[in-house]
Amino acid sequence: MRQNRLNACWKRRRQEEILITGLNNNEMKTDYQNPDVLVIGGGIAGVGAALGAAKTGASVLLVSSEGVIGGDALSGMPLLGACNARGEWVVAGVLRELLDACKEMNGYIGPVCDWRAVNGVCVDPNILHLAIAQAMETHKIQLLLNSTVIEVKNTAGCVESVSVVGKDGTAMDLNPKFVIDVTGDANIASMAGFACESGGKDGEYQPVSLVFRVCNVDFESLLNFVRCNPDEIILAENPTIELDRTQCAQKVFEQGYPYVAISANGALLGGAIQENNMFPCTAVFVTPTSVQRGEVGINVTRKAGINPCNQKEVSDSYGALCKQVQLAFNFLRSSVPGFKQSEISGIAHRVGIRETRRVVGDYVLQTEDVKTGKKSDDGIAKGAHHIDVHGKGTDQIRIPVDDGRSYDIPFGCIVPKGSRNLLVAGRCISSTREANGSARVMGTCIATGEAAGTAGALCVTGRFSDVHDLKVKDLRQVLTGHGAILEGTR
Ligand SMILES: Cc1cc2nc3c(=O)[nH]c(=O)nc-3n(C[C@H](O)[C@H](O)[C@H](O)COP(=O)(O)OP(=O)(O)OC[C@H]3O[C@@H](n4cnc5c(N)ncnc54)[C@H](O)[C@@H]3O)c2cc1C
Repeated sequence: MRQNRLNACWKRRRQEEILITGLNNNEMKTDYQNPDVLVIGGGIAGVGAALGAAKTGASVLLVSSEGVIGGDALSGMPLLGACNARGEWVVAGVLRELLDACKEMNGYIGPVCDWRAVNGVCVDPNILHLAIAQAMETHKIQLLLNSTVIEVKNTAGCVESVSVVGKDGTAMDLNPKFVIDVTGDANIASMAGFACESGGKDGEYQPVSLVFRVCNVDFESLLNFVRCNPDEIILAENPTIELDRTQCAQKVFEQGYPYVAISANGALLGGAIQENNMFPCTAVFVTPTSVQRGEVGINVTRKAGINPCNQKEVSDSYGALCKQVQLAFNFLRSSVPGFKQSEISGIAHRVGIRETRRVVGDYVLQTEDVKTGKKSDDGIAKGAHHIDVHGKGTDQIRIPVDDGRSYDIPFGCIVPKGSRNLLVAGRCISSTREANGSARVMGTCIATGEAAGTAGALCVTGRFSDVHDLKVKDLRQVLTGHGAILEGTR
């Protein structure tokens, strides 16, 4: 009897929905088309946003143009910005949960200092990949992969719907209550007509790169080389360290993990560049990824003069970057101690992009905020990485945060000016170009993602039609309750 009543009720609701939407039975919208929070982008900021929103009680759909989730975190680079130059953790929350899962699956190395002093959190990217997928499932986050948002309907600052196209060209409309743009490029904010800035003042962008991994590396030989040849390595850049280069090289050795930057100013790499056995670069950045496999991540390739918003230009760089991978691997194997028996074990699944658009938000994170480690009452995440802007050839600007501190990212940095139900997070937050050179790293991206997702969920559960009605104090309280670090760091 009760079942009959429920069936009748369900049938009536379907008929009402057909009347309202004009859809027939076959075109009936599925539940995931009306999520509380729609997260657009499957990079590390998307992971933070989706988990933040789900943990705050929202139904979440994550849409991404890519077929895997995690972005550059799957390539074998250290998670930067999660610890400051003094080694103090400044990001936790969902990142902590993922790292704990990596630990359980034996894929966690942890924070390692390169004694420049950058503290990178090193993990096995294969295990992190699994941990992210597991977290998505645990938190019941629905996924729509290989799907690209191509149109956004914005009515008076409110994103009402977005159109998504899948691989087969079929278009579908989604009607979320709240939207998080974690596309790295602020694609959604830009399509919705919100103001954005892009690259440098002369239209320049940081180079694009292809990261790769190498296994069967003899960590001990490499570390011995570092200890005996400090002039070949970038060391002691940050005055916070108070040690000389030789002492820093000894520290790297004692730490036991090859987290080092082989410098283009040294005889080894510099000589190889001069003899055309290597392409011009700042350094070969080496990151330990797996002790079991004797594996390291290598960040060295670079192609400048590309506009990363232009797909044709990025696509044209792909072949050249693959050739650089080969050249760099040959250099390592033939010239750098520890790499003699090594093999390429992985190449990033996409060309890596350092910068494109930055949204213009209610607050623009200032270069001075980063340099001085400025704190703010409405901080929703923390950053700590040095200002890191790569140029052409061997150029790179690196400016440390004063005294090895962290800085706060105010709520206004994730709110596009004039937006009511759209937030941004990750690489494309509102910031000057130099400040973005720090905030673009993955530890900071996952933290701003978590803050944006949590804010979106709070707006939905609190029935706020404008994100400006949300009290930042309340958001901070929920984030802290979920384990985020917002206070108490240098
Ligand atoms: C070579 C290189 C080295 C780096 N080294 C480090 C390092 O050592 N440590 C560190 O912490 N950081 C490093 N960074 C920086 C860091 O990796 C990135 O800035 C960060 O991963 C950006 O994350 P994100 O989630 O904001 O963007 P992304 O990872 O770019 O994710 C954006 C996602 O949005 C999707 N998307 C875009 N448009 C649409 C659309 N219209 N519809 C649907 N989906 C869409 C994309 O497919 C992608 O999945 C490096 C970056 C590069 C390129």
